[in-house]
Amino acid sequence: HLSNRLATVASYVPKGSRLADIGTDHAYLPVNLLKRGLIAGGVAGEVVRGPFENAAHEIQREGLTDRLTARLANGLKAIEPADQIDTVVIAGMGGTLITQILTQDFDRLAGVKRLILQPNVGEMVVRRFLMTHGFQLVTEEILAEDGHTYEVLVADRADQPETYNDEELRFGPYLLQEHSAIFIAKWQRELARTQAVRKQVQQAAVVPEDKVAQLTAEIQEIEEVLHRVS
Ligand code: SAM
Repeated sequence: HLSNRLATVASYVPKGSRLADIGTDHAYLPVNLLKRGLIAGGVAGEVVRGPFENAAHEIQREGLTDRLTARLANGLKAIEPADQIDTVVIAGMGGTLITQILTQDFDRLAGVKRLILQPNVGEMVVRRFLMTHGFQLVTEEILAEDGHTYEVLVADRADQPETYNDEELRFGPYLLQEHSAIFIAKWQRELARTQAVRKQVQQAAVVPEDKVAQLTAEIQEIEEVLHRVS
């Protein structure tokens, strides 16, 4: 049984695909998809030995070793040409780490048509990466679970991805359009947090004016969006 977060990620994996789940931990996601007959097979990649062993154990326990391979490897190095991977999931990490993983071994994405990314924070850098690396965002979802808010970004290979402005990159072009209650609540929280940070920064003995200006710009951007959508 998958969490709502992982179930949302799973729902965007194309039927019959060959999946690489990078940072798989217990391999719950690929195991679940394979057991339901929704993927043909693939790779569960992990860079840390403990989680890698959990993944290998889980795959063995479910009797799926013939179609799902656990690999101890850093990021996309888990993907080999013979795997014929067409879909990659990276979930449950910060956006900066996700972007580093994708950039580091970009050539390993040669046969990949779809990326499903679930950054816990730093969604903006992930969107910017997609836009500048030949992937078109096709859907975004925002969901709340256990007191956290998660975003799921789905992107397909494209010759000329649409160009997004900073507001779209920060808030998400699809999420902005939809402006759900969860989206509004997230950005109300972000606004309060950024205002608190600015207040603190302004109390410093030597006020870093550039930092204050940057936070003020961020606050204004959030206020503008909230004003428009609420
Ligand atoms: N993807 C699962 C999920 O969404 O529930 C697990 C998320 S867990 C918080 C993050 C996992 O990513 C950890 O098991 C960590 O070891 C792994 N990880 C971090 N950096 C990695 C990298 N460069 N390559 C592969 N795995 C990595």
